[in-house]
Amino acid sequence: MPEESDKVVPLKKAKCPACAKPAVAAYQPFCSKRCSNLDLGRWLDGSYRIPTNETIDAAAFAEGDDEDH
Ligand SMILES: [Zn+2]
Repeated sequence: MPEESDKVVPLKKAKCPACAKPAVAAYQPFCSKRCSNLDLGRWLDGSYRIPTNETIDAAAFAEGDDEDH
């Protein structure tokens, strides 16, 4: 099964959170695998936050992880 960008299906009302291009079904909500990975990197870097209860631990991590800049 080919999984390359041979078949790109743009989604309506969905923009890539990384670059604001129209999202693609295969990589939603992103426009491409690259943006998907890019966003994942932000998550791992701790610079991405979501307004939920689960950010409590993330906030703790944020402090003291900035001295090796
Ligand atoms: Zn994108």
